[in-house]
Amino acid sequence: MNKIAVFPGSFDPITLGHVDIVRRAAKIFDEVIVAVGVNSQKKYLYSLDHRLDMLEAVFSSDDKVSVDHFKGLTVNYCKEKAAHFLLRGIRSSGDFDYEKTISQLNHVIGDELETVFLITRPEYSFISSTIVREIIKGKGDVSAFVPAEVNSMLNI
Ligand code: ADP
Repeated sequence: MNKIAVFPGSFDPITLGHVDIVRRAAKIFDEVIVAVGVNSQKKYLYSLDHRLDMLEAVFSSDDKVSVDHFKGLTVNYCKEKAAHFLLRGIRSSGDFDYEKTISQLNHVIGDELETVFLITRPEYSFISSTIVREIIKGKGDVSAFVPAEVNSMLNI
């Protein structure tokens, strides 16, 4: 049985922290699906199509990694993809507290879907899409925080 992990998120935009988690997970799982969760209530800086394009640009040569999007509950999407693992990155105790509750909930409603947490590497622990968006809005340089392919796609 293939071990498939889903890495859900907004990726608005994808950062070096996300990339590191995905590439480390690709050494553990047979397949990693980077899945953009679509939430119609949320306002994004980049359109869904552009976020998908940025993800494709980053992962096009990673054999085990694919890019997709989904609406609705993450657990339902995992079922649809026959993925038994949910991948999340942990940067801080704040992330941990939040993720712990969601993971316990998903374990119950998601047919024992297992959440696997990877701790961020120290050099990426302060990077968040929120901070990157703020710098972009202020016309600052985010090249130290996002992959090179993405840095050239940020001005739209
Ligand atoms: P969400 O909308 O779920 O917060 P994000 O795109 O912000 O989506 O994050 C998706 C996942 O990536 C989450 O598990 C988050 O903790 C993780 N993540 C975000 N930034 C980093 C980082 N710098 N290092 C490691 N993991 C990260």
